[in-house]
Amino acid sequence: MKRPIMYFLSVLLLFSVLSCKTEHQQKKVLTLGISHESNTFSTLPVKETDFRVSRGDDVLKDQKWAEVLRQADIEIIPTLHAYAWPGGVVERQAFESFLNEILDSIKNAGNLDGIYMDMHGALHVEGYDDAQVTMINKIRELAGNEVLISGSFDLHGNLSPDFVKEIDLITAYRTAPHRDADETRIRAARMLIDAMNFNWKPHIEYVEIPILVPGEKSITEVEPLNSVYSQIPDVTNTEGLIDASIFAGYCWADLPRSAMRVFVIAKDQKYRSSARKEAVRLAQLIWDDREKMVLDVPSGPVDEMISRTEEYTGRTVFISDSGDNTTAGAPGDNTQVLDALLRHEVKNTLMAGIVDPAALKECINAGCGKKIKLSLGGKDDTVFCKPIEIEATVLFLSPDSLMGTDRGVAVIETDGVKTVILKTRRSFTEINDFKETGLDPLSFKIVVVKLGYLFPELRDIAPVHLIALTSGFCNLDMRSLPFKNVRRPCYPLDDDMEWKPL
Ligand SMILES: [Zn+2]
Repeated sequence: MKRPIMYFLSVLLLFSVLSCKTEHQQKKVLTLGISHESNTFSTLPVKETDFRVSRGDDVLKDQKWAEVLRQADIEIIPTLHAYAWPGGVVERQAFESFLNEILDSIKNAGNLDGIYMDMHGALHVEGYDDAQVTMINKIRELAGNEVLISGSFDLHGNLSPDFVKEIDLITAYRTAPHRDADETRIRAARMLIDAMNFNWKPHIEYVEIPILVPGEKSITEVEPLNSVYSQIPDVTNTEGLIDASIFAGYCWADLPRSAMRVFVIAKDQKYRSSARKEAVRLAQLIWDDREKMVLDVPSGPVDEMISRTEEYTGRTVFISDSGDNTTAGAPGDNTQVLDALLRHEVKNTLMAGIVDPAALKECINAGCGKKIKLSLGGKDDTVFCKPIEIEATVLFLSPDSLMGTDRGVAVIETDGVKTVILKTRRSFTEINDFKETGLDPLSFKIVVVKLGYLFPELRDIAPVHLIALTSGFCNLDMRSLPFKNVRRPCYPLDDDMEWKPL
């Protein structure tokens, strides 16, 4: 009798181990992303080749959010992640090719538990009313209603109601200038893990605030928004609430979805009213302070800003060429400020930089130390400026320029004004960008950058910062832009309007 009992017990044990294993089946999360900030005023379309695309294991390399998923014993299925520097509207073919590849991967992935979307949130594609809605609708259709979708976003995104309907979890940067990209992605991953493990049925409450505000007037480190953003942790610690995000929105998109928004996520419907209450409260605080959202540094016409640098003897003054801010989608070849610097005959000045691949080629052909005549800039931005005719000496050619890579730069000098010529559209946002030119920004009297606000590293080192209100596709004066499609009324276009969050 002993043997059959032992056999029976062993079979029972094996069965219970197996069923236990089935209960703790490894969860599967697919990852994807089409991340772009699309300036609808820019005349420069964004092509497929402008995107940096990664696939498969390359996506996960050195990504802290991927480590968080791995540590939670999640099987990660990385698909296509595409990112392009802010620019104009994205070409239809680029978007469709990326989306089709993502959809094919979803079809081949089998049953999923979750999806993580690594997005910016201000994507706009030619021929689509809202490409982000098309994207999430198709993803949802394939993945099914049970799969939880979590997304991380730049707070400068514009998420429309139809997009929010299909996503389960939303979280955005809490700093602008951005210092928390990694933390935000980690938060999106953690929320997804928790929602899967605890079977949450997340519910998103949001309020759309009819405000168009440039990033330069909605810096989270200064008032009035510092006080509002600093309330987010308290909101997320409220019983039943998972997360809260405040989207400043992206104002250089003439689209009905351009606005500020507050999102508060509840674990399930039970906490819906608590989420609503917090979303309305934060939205009201922002609306009440709308007139206090102003530039945090002195600003004015470019000639006035250049003259004003005389007040800061011995200190380097950074001047933002704000209308041609390439980090917000402008072309980066506007010549207004360079023209003004030469007219003012200011010495020891750095113009960083002007995008002009043809001029860079001429510098390479001439070689270092040679004098050349250039017709510089004004080739992409043909609306607000024209090329500037100058005679200059080629001072420096970077190794990248000689190898023909996209990061190639040349430095030329004309009458004490040094200009960096860039092969491709980008901005000087970090100290490293200056190192590549062999120049120390703090050794100059004036440094001009194609930015609005200074990015964190420059913000931390700049002794003085002024914003030149130049005309361009990123004009800081909302009223001067030809808006036709944004929802009206909205502040500041209709500054006498009344509004209350419901
Ligand atoms: Zn941003």
